[in-house]
Amino acid sequence: MDHRYAFLTEWYDPTAALLRRYQLFYYPKDGSVEMFDVKNQRIFLRRTKYDHLHPEDLFVGNRVNVFSRQLNLIDYGDQYTANKLGSKKERTLAFIKPDVVTKIGDVLESIYASNLIVTKAKMTKLTWSQAADFYVEHQSKPFFNNLVQFVSSGPVVAMELMGDEAMSIWRRLLGPADSAVARKEAPQSVRAQFGTDGIKNVGHGSDSLAAAARELEFFFPSTIGIGPSNTAIYTDCTCCIIKPHAVSEGLTGKILNSISDAGFEISALQMFNVDRANAEEFYEVYKGVVIEYPSMVTELCSGPCMVLEIHGSNTPQSFREFCGPADPEIARHLRPTTLRALYGKDKVKNAVHCTDLPEDGVLEVQYFFKILDG
Ligand code: ADP
Ligand code: MG
Repeated sequence: MDHRYAFLTEWYDPTAALLRRYQLFYYPKDGSVEMFDVKNQRIFLRRTKYDHLHPEDLFVGNRVNVFSRQLNLIDYGDQYTANKLGSKKERTLAFIKPDVVTKIGDVLESIYASNLIVTKAKMTKLTWSQAADFYVEHQSKPFFNNLVQFVSSGPVVAMELMGDEAMSIWRRLLGPADSAVARKEAPQSVRAQFGTDGIKNVGHGSDSLAAAARELEFFFPSTIGIGPSNTAIYTDCTCCIIKPHAVSEGLTGKILNSISDAGFEISALQMFNVDRANAEEFYEVYKGVVIEYPSMVTELCSGPCMVLEIHGSNTPQSFREFCGPADPEIARHLRPTTLRALYGKDKVKNAVHCTDLPEDGVLEVQYFFKILDG
C-alpha cells in the first residue's frame, strides 16, 4: 500500500448546522486525497488527485481546503502520521522590537524564506512592568533597565512561529544579540541587516521549549482577555484585511512592505481565525448586493487572516485607491501598481479587503480589535 498520512478532521456543514467528522488521508506520492465519514462509517470521497493540498499544510491545528470544504485538522489519525509529521514541529515566540516594527515586512519575508509560518501575530505596546516581567530572567544584568525601557518605548509585534525546529531556526535567523557582532559573524542574519546595537537588535526569540511555552502564554494567553492589548486607536482609520489565501501563499511580508513603502501607517496588526458566523456578519452589507458574497464569506473563514488598522487623515479614500479595483484582472490593466494588481488572483481571492465607505472605517476596525479580540 502507498504510504499515506491520516488526520481526524472536522467540517462545519452550514446547511445542516452540524459539525461533521472525517478522516482525511493524503498520499504524498501522487498528491491524492481520500475522505472517510466517521459517523456513517463509509467512504465520503474516493481517492482523488488534488493539487491544492501540500504536505506543509498538514499539521494539527491548521485548517485546509479540500474541494471547497474547510477542514479543521484536529488530530493525527495514526501513530505513523504523528511520528512523521508531528515530531519536529515546534512553536516558538518571536517578537519584533520597536526599532524595526516599520520593517516588519522584511522580517516576515526572511521568516517565510526559512520555511517557518506565522500562526499568531499581534501588535502591542508593553508597559514598563510588562516588559520587566517578560525579561525577568535578565533582571540582575547591567543592561536590564535599558532593555526594558527600550522594548516598552513603542509598539512591538509578537508572533507565534511554527515549523520544523522553529525555535533554533528563528534564533539563527536573528543572529548574535549584538548587531555589530552579527554583521561580522552572520551577515545574512536579520540583526546584521536591520539591527543597530545590542539593545536595538530587531527582535527576540525563545531560547528553549520551556521558554517558548512561557513566552507564548505571556503574549497569547489561553485565558481570554488577560494578555497585552492591541494598539488600535479607532480614529482617522481604515480597515485592511490580508485575506487567508494571501497569508497562506506567504505574501504577508510583501504586502506589508508595499503598504509601508506607499507611506501608510500601520497602527494595529493582528491575525484572526474568523469563523463563518463572524465572516457573514462582517460582510453583511454585501449580502444580496454583490454576487460574490457567499464566496467572500468562505474565503474569509478559510484560514488565518491578518487585520490592519491603517491610520492617517484621508486614509480611507487614499488607501482604497491604493488597494485598486476589486477585480485583479481589471486592476492589472488599469492600476498595475495597486495591491490587488500585484497580489490578487480573482475577484474573491483579491489579496486584501479594505473599507469601502470612509464612515465605516472605525466600525470595521472595531469589529476586529474590540469585538473579536476578546
Ligand atoms: P537573545 O536576545 O539573543 O536571546 P539574551 O537572552 O542573552 O540574547 O539577551 C536578551 C536581550 O538583552 C538581547 O536581545 C539584547 O537586546 C540584550 N542584551 C544581551 N546582552 C547584552 C549586552 N551585553 N549588552 C547590551 N544588551 C544586551
Ligand atoms: Mg534570550
